[in-house]
Amino acid sequence: MQVAYPDIKDILADGQCSLPTVRALHTAVQQLFEFDKEISVKSLLRVEVTQIPKLQHISYRKVREGKKAQFLKSIESDNIALAIVGSGSTSFGSAWVEAVPKAAAFVMAPPEFRTAMRNRLLIPHPQIVPNSQCSCKGNPTLDVRGIHLQKCKRLHAETIKTHDILNEDIIQFHKSMGLLSYKIQEDHFRILDPSCGLRGDQIVHRAGQMPMLLDVTVSNVVTPDVTNKIGKPLTGVKAKSREVEKAKKYQEVCRAMGQSFLPVVFESQGLAGGQFLLHFDKLIARRAEEIGASSAPLKIYWSRRLSLTLQRSVAQAINIRMATLYTGPTGPTAVDESVWPGVVVSQSQTSLGSSHWEL
Ligand SMILES: [Zn+2]
Repeated sequence: MQVAYPDIKDILADGQCSLPTVRALHTAVQQLFEFDKEISVKSLLRVEVTQIPKLQHISYRKVREGKKAQFLKSIESDNIALAIVGSGSTSFGSAWVEAVPKAAAFVMAPPEFRTAMRNRLLIPHPQIVPNSQCSCKGNPTLDVRGIHLQKCKRLHAETIKTHDILNEDIIQFHKSMGLLSYKIQEDHFRILDPSCGLRGDQIVHRAGQMPMLLDVTVSNVVTPDVTNKIGKPLTGVKAKSREVEKAKKYQEVCRAMGQSFLPVVFESQGLAGGQFLLHFDKLIARRAEEIGASSAPLKIYWSRRLSLTLQRSVAQAINIRMATLYTGPTGPTAVDESVWPGVVVSQSQTSLGSSHWEL
């Protein structure tokens, strides 16, 4: 039996080859050419052997960039959307999307996943009736993107829960880096000064260095300045300003106690503060060396885990508040949008066309 392998000249002969794979290659290249005028069958055949595993990435790059630019253009006058997308498309902000739910740390219940995805993709939450009011103080108007429900003072314990769960996960991260880490007790600062109102969240001990005090903060990137359109939202600015604020509050007091201080800042929409990321990368590199392993799997695991913990918790808080917004079905089952069928239909129509952007 003779197997037909395409000859190089058959591959180069545009559309003439009888082999379906080669014809499909020509069609694909024609489509890519729309976005990248430098691409041709010939140019792809010249790709270095070492680059071949990256071939898909190389050939699709311009398409991806084109689509992203097109998407950003479509939201350029929407400050809130720009702020959400800016925070969510950082590598830490999007790490959770790549987590395969093989371990408990990577599992999201379907209602949490839907809410987290809607938060990310700017899709209105069907459970929020447009222009309805929240039942919290002052009855503010609810936005269908759920920003108010992320910050709402009603059921405030949910906001605290996000913070506490993240703090706990970061303690676990430090333990897995081989360090002693524990939650701060109420009287940590009061031992020296009974009037001190400072708290902090955890202590990490590293050999040969001062113990490090961490304060964990989760801030919403959609601030009144963003909503009121004062300038274009710049990615990372919110987290940076929180880091500076926290350092002012804690750095000196910690030093006086013989401790160093690290502000751990996250934005509800995904971004992690630069100071935490630096600390994170350093610990992972050191741990990888200690155990003689590559740092990549450690980094991937912990970025995905912390990023997912944050998004799951933000989604849970929204779901719990949504479930008690209006009179009607209440309790955990009211979280599901099937309870509000009319709203689902009207809102899924308005969300079409605005929900496409690169993950
Ligand atoms: Zn409210």
